[in-house]
Amino acid sequence: MEITVVGTGYVGLVTGVCFAEVGYNVTCFDIDERKITALSQGRCPIYEPGLENMLQRNLEEGRLHFTYDSKSACKNADFIFIAVGTPENEDGSANLEYLEGAVEQIGMNLVRDAVIIIKSTVPVGTNQRMYQKLRGILPDDIQVKVVSNPEFLREGSGILDTFHADRIIVGSDDHRVGRAVADLYKPFGRPILQTDIRSAELIKYASNAFLATKISFINEVANLCEHTDANIEDVAKGMGMDARIGGQFLKAGIGYGGSCFPKDTKALEKLTEEYDYDFKILRSVIEVNSRQKHQLFEKACKMFGNLQGKRVAVLGLAFKPHTDDIREAPAIELISRLLEERADISVYDPAATRNTGNLFGSRLYYAENIDTAIKGADIVFIMTEWPQITQYDLERFPLLMRDPVIFDGRNCYDLSEAESAGLTYISIGRKAVNVSRNLENSKFQGLACRERN
Ligand code: NAD
Repeated sequence: MEITVVGTGYVGLVTGVCFAEVGYNVTCFDIDERKITALSQGRCPIYEPGLENMLQRNLEEGRLHFTYDSKSACKNADFIFIAVGTPENEDGSANLEYLEGAVEQIGMNLVRDAVIIIKSTVPVGTNQRMYQKLRGILPDDIQVKVVSNPEFLREGSGILDTFHADRIIVGSDDHRVGRAVADLYKPFGRPILQTDIRSAELIKYASNAFLATKISFINEVANLCEHTDANIEDVAKGMGMDARIGGQFLKAGIGYGGSCFPKDTKALEKLTEEYDYDFKILRSVIEVNSRQKHQLFEKACKMFGNLQGKRVAVLGLAFKPHTDDIREAPAIELISRLLEERADISVYDPAATRNTGNLFGSRLYYAENIDTAIKGADIVFIMTEWPQITQYDLERFPLLMRDPVIFDGRNCYDLSEAESAGLTYISIGRKAVNVSRNLENSKFQGLACRERN
C-alpha cells in the first residue's frame, strides 16, 4: 500500500510522518524545493513538538521519502492525500489555486488508478469539482476516485491529535472507496464517521465555526464582566461545569487567530452568501473577534493617549503557544498598529521570532528572553500564553520596567499576585489592578490614538 502526501505543511507533514509511523510506505511531495531538501536530511522546517524525532526515525527505517518531482510522487501511489494550503482571498472566500495546481499535477502525472483524498479545508462542492477536473485531464483508462477527509489536528499538538483524534471523517459518494480510506486509518484505532462527500466538507467548516463561536461568545461575556464588575474566570468556570456546555474553548482573551478559524469562518460566510443564506450568528462571531483583537490597544490608547516613542514590549507572537505560526495572530495586528503609532517595540516569543522577523524586519527589536524584552519598557502586552510567559516571575516586571503597565490578553496572572507585585495590570474580563494611578497621571487621557479616529 503506497501513500503519497502532497504538501508538507503543518497538516501534510504530520499526516505523512504519522502514516509512516504506523507502518505505511509514504512519499511526501512539495513544490518547495528548500523544504524538501531539509526534510530529506531529517530537518523539520516547522516547529511541531515531537515531529522531528519521528521524522528522522521513519526516514532511517526507510518508510518515509521526500521528493519535489511530481512524476515520482505519483508513480506508485495507491492513495494520494492533498494537504496544500487554502488561504483566504481578499473577499474572504477560500483561495483554491494551490489545490487546483496540485490536482493538475496529479492529473498530468498519474499512470495508474488511485484514490485522491482531499485533506485541505475546502468549500462544499470542491471535491466534486476536483474530480471533474481530474477526469478532464486523465486518459479514460485511468480510474480515480475523490474522497473528502478533512483534518482536525491542532498546531502544537499535531502528532498527539493524529494518534488520539476525536473522530476521522471520510466523505465519499462511493461507500466502498470511502471504506478503503477509512481502513487506512485502522492502525490509529480512532472513531471513524463515513458520510457523503458534501457533508464531510461542511463538517469541517461547521466545527471550526462552532469553536470560534464559543470563543467569541466567552469574549463577549468577558467584556460584559468588565461593565458589571464580575470576573470572567469564575463565570467561565461556572458555565463550563455544566456538561452540556463543557469547559473547553471558554477561555476569554484577545481573540482567535491562526491559519484556520479566521479564514474558515470567513470562507463559510462567503459560502452562505453564494447560497443566499444569511447565517447571522457566524457574521457576529467574525465581527466580535475583529473587535476583540483591538481591545488592549484601545485601552492602552485610553490610558496613555499617545503611544509615540513609548517603549513597548510584546510578549508572545504566535497565535497560540507551542507553535511558530503567526498567521492572523493577534500579536501581529497589534504590532502593526503600534508601528503606526511609532512606538519603540521589542518582542519575544520562544518559537515565532523568525517568522515575525520575516514580516517586520528591522522595525522591531527581537529579544532572546523576557528580561531583555521588557527592560526599560513603559508598557508590556501579553499576546500568547507560552509557559515561559505564564510562569515568569512577576517581581521582575518592576525590577526591569520603569513603571510597569501590563496589558494581558491571555489572563496569565493571578490578580492578587499582580497587585502585590505592584503592577498596573489590565487583563480581559477581570478587574483592572492598580490602574487609577496611571489614569490619574495620564495627561493625555481621553485623547485618541490615530487609528481610532
Ligand atoms: P501550509 O501552508 O503549512 O502548507 C501547505 C504546503 O503545501 C506548503 O508546504 C506548500 O509549499 C505546499 N504546496 C502548495 N502548492 C503545492 C502543490 N501544487 N504541490 C505540492 N505542494 C504544494 O498549510 P497547512 O497549515 O498545513 O494547511 C493545509 C490545509 O489543511 C489547509 O486547507 C488548512 O486549512 C487545513 N488545516 C490546517 C490545520 C492547521 O492547523 N494548520 C488544521 C486543520 C486543517
